[in-house]
Amino acid sequence: MQLLDGKFLSAQIKQEIAAEVAQIRQQGGKIPHLVAILVGNKGSSETYVASKMKNCEEVGMHSTLIRFEPTVTEAELLDAVQQVNDNPDMDGLIVQLPLPDHINPDRVMETINPAKDVDGFHPINIGRMAKGLPAYVSATPQGVLEMLKRYNIETAGKHCVVVGRSQIVGLPMSILMQRNTYPGNCTVTLTHSRTQNLAEICQSADILVAALGRPEFITADMVKEGAVVIDVGLERVPDASKKSGFVLKGDVKFDEVAPKSSFITPVPGGVGLMTICSLMQNTLKAARREVYEKP
Ligand code: NAP
Repeated sequence: MQLLDGKFLSAQIKQEIAAEVAQIRQQGGKIPHLVAILVGNKGSSETYVASKMKNCEEVGMHSTLIRFEPTVTEAELLDAVQQVNDNPDMDGLIVQLPLPDHINPDRVMETINPAKDVDGFHPINIGRMAKGLPAYVSATPQGVLEMLKRYNIETAGKHCVVVGRSQIVGLPMSILMQRNTYPGNCTVTLTHSRTQNLAEICQSADILVAALGRPEFITADMVKEGAVVIDVGLERVPDASKKSGFVLKGDVKFDEVAPKSSFITPVPGGVGLMTICSLMQNTLKAARREVYEKP
C-alpha cells in the first residue's frame, strides 16, 4: 500500500505556484487576487475559508474575505457578487457553501461571472468541462486528478466507482474520469443513496472515489484487493478527548481498507489539501486569462 500524500503534493504545488506568482511580480504583472464570500459563522465554513485565504497569502497572491451575517438577503448577496464581477482587480470569486436556507445557491452560482468562477460551479463551466472545452473544473475533482497524475496511476480501461453524486464532487468526478484523456478513459459507475447492491458495485472498483459524507462508511469488505481508494469525505465527528471537541473523519475506514489498497488517501492530509491547491491554480489561470480571454 502506498499513501497518496496530499501534504507532500500540496507543498510541492504551492512552491510551483509561489514561483509563478514571484515571476509575475518581478515582471510587473497583475498579482492574482482571490475573493471569498462567507455568510454566517459556521465553524467548518470559517475554517475552510480561513485556510483558503491563508494559502493564497503564502504563495504571494492577494486575497479578500467578504463576510455577511446569516440574515443577509439574497438580493444583497447577489449585489456583492456583481460588484466582484465588475471589479477588474478581482480575478477569482468563491462563495462558500452551504448558504442559509433562504438563499438559492443556484441563483448565486449563476450570478458569478464564469470567467471568475474558480470553484467551477457555474453551469457554463460544468457544461464546458463535460464537453472537454477549456473551463474551470470543480476544485476537489481537479485535485483528485492532479493526485492521480502526480503518482502516475494508470486509469485507462479501469472501472472507477464514484460514491455520491453531488454537483460539486461526485458528478464532475464521474464526468472527468470517463473523458478520453489522462487521467480518464475509465468505465465509470456513479452511485448514490438509492443505489442497490452498493457494496457489490464498490467491490468491482479498480478506482474507488468515496464522496458521500458518511464517516467510515466504506469498509474493507467493500473494497477489491489492490484498489486505488480516494477518500473525499471530511466530517467532524464529536470526540470529547480532543481539545477541539471533534476529530476529522473520511468516508473510508482507513485502518482496515488501507492494507487492501494499492494506493489510498489519508484524512486529513489527502484530498482536502489538493482542493485548496486547485483553487489557487484556477485563480492563477483567471489572472492570466487562460480559460476565458476576458473577465
Ligand atoms: P453531499 O452534497 O451531501 O452529497 C452526498 C452524496 O452522497 C449524495 O449524492 C448522496 O446521495 C450520497 N450518499 C449519501 N449517503 C449515501 C449512502 N449511504 N450510500 C450511497 N450514497 C450516499 O456531499 P458533498 O458536498 O459531495 O460532500 C461529500 C463529502 O465530501 C463530505 O464529507 C464533504 O465534507 C466532503 N468534501 C470534502 C472536500 C475536500 O476538499 N476534501 C470538498 C468537498 C466536499 P443522494 O444524491 O441520493 O442524496
